[in-house]
Amino acid sequence: MNPIPDDNNTSVSFFKKEVQKFVRDRNWTKFHTPQNLIQALGIEVSELSEIFLFKDISLKTINSDYDLLENISDEIADVFIYLVSLVNSINLDLTSAFTKKMEKNKDKYSLEEFNNGSYQKL
Ligand SMILES: [Mg+2]
Repeated sequence: MNPIPDDNNTSVSFFKKEVQKFVRDRNWTKFHTPQNLIQALGIEVSELSEIFLFKDISLKTINSDYDLLENISDEIADVFIYLVSLVNSINLDLTSAFTKKMEKNKDKYSLEEFNNGSYQKL
């Protein structure tokens, strides 16, 4: 029996295949163009943002309010699903893209210049 997937035992390819199958099974590939997916991604980020609009929601509240945490979790998953579908649509290797960009970020925000909690160079 396979273990229940979680962050400790799941690869990027699992997400890519799951989303690809979901889209193909519904014959939605023609709708999952890069432009549509980027717009859908933005809408899902907005839905996540709307949960917090005009509220001062603390981390303590998020961790103690089951319904709130579930709403946030659902919207984060929607964002991730569209991001994965975007990655699929342009046949991007996400791990390679992540690794390359993290190296660029490490160069741009060197520890020598950004070790004081500031986002700006002193
Ligand atoms: Mg949503």
